[in-house]
Formats: sequence, C-alpha cells, structure tokens
Amino acid sequence: MNQNQLEQMLTDACKKDISSCTDKELYTGLLCLVNKLSKGRESAQGKKKLYYISAEFLIGKLLSNNMINLGICSQVKSILASHGKDLCVLEELEPEPSLGNGGLGRLAACFLDSIATLGLNGDGIGLNYHFGLFKQLFKDNLQNEEPNPWMENTSWLNRTNVTYQIPYRNFTLTSRMYDIKVTGYGNRTNKLHLFDVETVDESLVEDGISFDKTDISKNLTLFLYPDDSDRAGQILRIYQQYFMVSNAARLILSEAAAKGSTLYDLPDYAVIQINDTHPTMVIPELIRLLTTEHGMEMDDAIQVVTRTCAYTNHTILAEALETWPMDYFKEAVPQLIPIMEVLDDKVRRKFDDPSVYIIDKGDRVHMAHIDIHYGFSVNGVAALHTDILKKNELNNFYRLYPEKFNNKTNGITFRRWLLHCNPQLADYISALIGDGFKKDAFELKKLDDSTFTANMKILHRLLAIKDSKKQELADYLKETQDIDIDPKSIFDIQVKRLHEYKRQQMNALYLIHKYLEIKRGSRPTTPITAIFGAKAAPAYTIAKDIIHMILCLRQVIDSDPDVRPWLNVVMVNNYNVSLAEKLIPACDISEQISLASKEASGTSNMKFMLNGAVTLGTDDGANVEIHELAGDDNIYIFGESSETVIRRYAEGSYCSRSYYEADPDLKEAVDFIISPAMAAAGSREHLERLYNELLNKDWFMTFPDFKDYCRTREQALSDYENRTAWARKMLINISKAGYFSSDRTIEEYNRDIWKLDTGLAP
Ligand SMILES: *Cc1c(COP(=O)(O)O)cnc(C)c1O
Repeated sequence: MNQNQLEQMLTDACKKDISSCTDKELYTGLLCLVNKLSKGRESAQGKKKLYYISAEFLIGKLLSNNMINLGICSQVKSILASHGKDLCVLEELEPEPSLGNGGLGRLAACFLDSIATLGLNGDGIGLNYHFGLFKQLFKDNLQNEEPNPWMENTSWLNRTNVTYQIPYRNFTLTSRMYDIKVTGYGNRTNKLHLFDVETVDESLVEDGISFDKTDISKNLTLFLYPDDSDRAGQILRIYQQYFMVSNAARLILSEAAAKGSTLYDLPDYAVIQINDTHPTMVIPELIRLLTTEHGMEMDDAIQVVTRTCAYTNHTILAEALETWPMDYFKEAVPQLIPIMEVLDDKVRRKFDDPSVYIIDKGDRVHMAHIDIHYGFSVNGVAALHTDILKKNELNNFYRLYPEKFNNKTNGITFRRWLLHCNPQLADYISALIGDGFKKDAFELKKLDDSTFTANMKILHRLLAIKDSKKQELADYLKETQDIDIDPKSIFDIQVKRLHEYKRQQMNALYLIHKYLEIKRGSRPTTPITAIFGAKAAPAYTIAKDIIHMILCLRQVIDSDPDVRPWLNVVMVNNYNVSLAEKLIPACDISEQISLASKEASGTSNMKFMLNGAVTLGTDDGANVEIHELAGDDNIYIFGESSETVIRRYAEGSYCSRSYYEADPDLKEAVDFIISPAMAAAGSREHLERLYNELLNKDWFMTFPDFKDYCRTREQALSDYENRTAWARKMLINISKAGYFSSDRTIEEYNRDIWKLDTGLAP
C-alpha cells in the first residue's frame, strides 16, 4: 500500500481531515485503521491447534506494536509528521491493559506475538479483568493501591457471540468471550480470548482496591490476583480459575468437534499449554465434560486429556506452588471433587510415595501434581531452573516420568523489545548487518566481528544512541513523574516485581553503603543514578517495607547536597510495560541479583542485554545462559553458587547475624535503616520491621553476597570509565542476544511439545 492510500484510509477512519483531529480522535482513528487492516489476515489454520491458557497476559500497549507488525509504522509516522502530529504523543493516550503482574504474564504476551509471527495455529485464553492489577501510588513514602481501569468504548477488545453457562455449587454464571487480535510480524493474526461475565459491577469497589469478596457474580473479573490473605479471597481465586478453564474447555471441545474430532482423537486437534498452575483445573474439568456431556468412559477421558495437556513450571519457591484445601472446591465447584478423587486414587494405587499424591493428608490439593501426572510434558523456563526441578524440587516426579521433563529457555519478542522501544538502535543494526535479524534474530551474531567490535566509529555511535535514550528517559520522567535525573550519569536499573528473592534490599544496602562512602569524601568518577521500579503484592508486608526503605533513602539522599550530585536514587511509580519500554533502552547496568537458584529465568535480563546494557548479576536463571553467551569479560557475575545456596538451605544453618557482626560495612549499612535520618523520612515501625527481618532471618541470604556484590558493582562502575571498552561489551551483548528471541523459544515448544503444522507460509 502506498502512502497516499494509507493517508486516505486514516482520514476515512478519523472521519475528518487529519490536521483538524484532536490527538484522541487520531488515536481512535489509528486504532480503527489497524483493526481494519488486520481483518484481512486470517488466523493460521491446520487440524491441530494450540491453546495457551494463562491467568495473565501482560500485553502492554498495542498500537505501535501492531503497526510494526503490519509493516505500516514508519509510513504512519511520516503521515502524522506531515500534519504536525507525533506518534509518541498519541501513544501516551492509549491505556495499558494491566492483565498481568510480571514476567510470567509478559512471557505469555511475547509468546502470542511469536506464535502469530511463525504462522502457528494457536490462541491465548485468559480472563478479562476490568481493573487488572492495581495501579501503584506513593504517599508518605509508602505504596498505595488503586484500581487500574483500562477498557474504553473503542478499544482492542472485540465482543463475540460466544457465551457459555458456567456452573458453580449455588448458581450458574453466563460468560461471554471477548477477543483481542494478535498480529504477527508480517504474518497472520491470531487471537487472545478473554472471558468475562456481564454481571460484574465496578461500583463494588470501595476505597483503594477493597470490595465485597463474597458477591461472586459482581466481583469475579474485577481484579487480577485479588487479595487472598483471607478465606473469602482464596475462594474467589478458585471461582476465577474455574471460570477461566471451564470456558476454555468448552471452547476447545467445540472447536475440535467442529473440525470433525470424535474427541477420542482430541490430541490430534488440540494441545493445551498450562502456564503455571493457575489453569490446572482444566484437566479435571475436561475429564468431567467428556464423561458427563460426551459419554466417554472415565479411563478414556483421562487418557485423552493426559495426551492433550502440557505444563510449564515457573517457580521453585515452595510457597508459590499452589495448594488449595479440599473444602474450597466443595464450596465453589463440588462437581470437580469426584474427578479429583479418581485422579488421586489412581496415583495412590500406582505409587507408594505420599509426596507425589494429589490430595495430601491435610486434605489439600496440590495443583502442580495434577499437571505432572495428567499431562504429557513438564517444562522449566531456563536451563538451570529445569536442572533444579529435576535434581531437587521435582526429583520425586522426575524419577517417575523422566521422559516428560524438558527445558524451554524463555525469550522475548524483538519486535517490542528492540524495533519498537529502540528504533534508533534497530536502524543502526540494520545499517551494519542488514534487516535479516528482524526475522531471524540469530543474525545479530554478525555483529560479533572485529570489523564492528574494533571499529571506534561504530563503538562511539553505539554510545551516542545510548546517550540519546538516556536523554529521552530523563525528559520523560521529568514530564510524567517530576523525577530529575542527570542523563550524563551512569544509569543503573533494577525493575521487576518486588520480591525478597529478587533482592532489591541488597541493592538498597549497597546504595546506603555508597551514600556513606561519598559522605566521607570518596566520590565516584561519574555520577550514578540508581533506578528502581517495582510493585509489591498488596498483602506482602516485607515487600512493602522494602519499597518504604528505598523511598526514604531516596528522600535522605535527595536532601543531602554533599551527596546528591554524585548519587541519585529514584523509584519510578507504577512500573509497567510502557515504562519498561522507556527504561530498558536507557540502561547502562542491568541489575539481575536474585539469590542463586531462586529466579526461574527472568526475562528483563534479556531485554536489557538486547538493548546494550551490561548485566550485573548472580549465576541464576537465564543469567547463566547470558553469562555463557556473553563470556566472562562482558558480564559482571558475583555471589554464591546455586549449589552452595541449596546446600545451605538443606543444612538449615544460615545465620544472618554472624555476617552482620563480621562485616563493618554491612553492619553500618543495615544499622542505617533505623537511623534517625531514615526515621525522619518515614515510619519507624516499617523500618524497624525490615531491620529485624534482615537481622534475624534474611531468608534470601543477602548478607553472604553483600561483600562480593559491592566489589563487583564497583568494578563495573570503574570499567564504565573506559568508554570504548564498555561499548565493546555492549556490542557483544547485543550480538549474542539472538538466542533470547521468543521466536526461538516458540520453535522449540512446537518442535518438542505442540507439534503443530508449520504449513502456511507468510
Ligand atoms: C519483562 C517484564 C517483567 C519481568 O521482569 P523480570 O526482571 O524478569 O522479573 C516484569 N514486568 C514488566 C512490566 C516487564 O516488561
């Protein structure tokens, strides 16, 4: 399509001349244009179809990404420019759907992009949360939560005619399916199906994010992960999960039947990827529907379902593996109980090992156990993670079913995390090695060649691009959050959900230490900006205390003229995909400092690497693979190994206080948490609770790694001063990032698990 035709289409979509449109009218016009253009693109077809079921899809804003994938982005930019309009300004008007929480949800979104791009026949299935995850606000240096409405009259969400009757113990809800089109790069359009219930009542939400948890027909799809610190909240999760999977099961069976499946051959028509344990009930629900509504024998139904379902494990944190009391199922979905009892009974008759039972002696149902016994594949999300699953956490299961276990190292879509968020870098790479890397990320390897890595002009250009992204971020944070950062300083960034195992607290302890050093006169060569972004789960007390500590520290340093020019600590508000797209291209040092063995994979580590940040991290999750690819000289690795950590947990011998007593720098930093300066900036109660937690527990072992962390971080800061040597590290990281394209990950899922036809060429 030529530019004039496109301009005419946009004018038609806006129903008036582009120059006379308001920004909002233009945004809506573009949305309609993109919807129209993607209509012509059929979903990939084929007998067998993938259903990716997930409680979260952190899709981010869609306008620019869809335009990139439709191949019209640069044309639209110049059409807008010719009318004095700026796409970036319009993008700010697009609300970000907050249908996810962190990495797991973002992974699902990257996967949908790659599935469509590769022309695979596969759709996502989830829930249409009206307020998604909460919106984060800071007040008095504390996190507050508010609803995060994102649906508008004209949006990416399309109402369909698909509805089902979903039965619960006391009532039945009528569902409705909404679709969001997922447009692949230069290719097909798949769908994200989001189920909702029309009786939901947004006015149920009172102050903050609290609401009546018992009024299921009105609250079911209000929030992603409603507070489950009480019984009503926990049962609401069961209602939500069952709603998601019962709808999914009905859709899957009806699509298979429509294509001629007898349902005995369901595995030839459908493969279900269960993303973490939230969709696990799809297994008993499918068995229930096959036996009660389709006349199948129980044993046949179990066989069919087992050959259809595959499970992805995302965590080794024992406390994060879902188990639910049988009572909850009795209360919400009693129809599943006879099925789950049969499933458990079969396991008990086959295996004499209570640790693999589905229902334990306390009458709790272990969701992951259902997936492993009654699915044909179990995958971890990075090499180290899968290894730990096999050797430790799920070793009992691995010994029963070694053939089910496999690894699929996570990936990210380069369309969003390079082409969209860093067009300057993408264009420059194109100028150096051509456009091929956009379809085949491994072509980035061509950059690892001395014609590039030893070329001063290229290295300087790379630094200039980084500088421009730092300036853009500085401008953006000033304008949107009134945060001042110096674009000439070193940008050291840790953005991810707040969790003790991710160890934001260790980063903060380093910054306290650095603050005190600067105060004593030891200034860094280049000023440092340390940026945090993180939401804490509303009921996770210590996580909120860590946010409080960081915000108080920010205030203390900000008001200290001796230090502030040299060290700036900031925490951006409401970290989400849109902010990630601005922060990541601007980063110099990527903080990936989880306690070794605890981060299953991480994906922001990959986004940073792709954008030329150098990783400072532990040998954990996918950092291990980044380390192998980038090589020792192009990454900063510190801390104890996963083996040491696992052994220390097994011995139960860890005592944080002894490290505190032995290391004066550490002691000084920890004591500072409860110093008068900090208490003046915040709440003594919160700070003392955190101080005591670290001193008496420190469950994620920040103290043993503190010294090595400080030393390694100082090394990175000092290496930064040799600008061309640093630029070479950046370039080598970029050149090795191809492995982390989600296209590679999805090809592996398809090759080993889904086995869909790759039939239709683009
Ligand atoms: C990529 C991403 C994550 C995952 O970050 P990790 O550091 O891998 O935990 C979380 N939130 C957002 C908004 C992301 O884009």
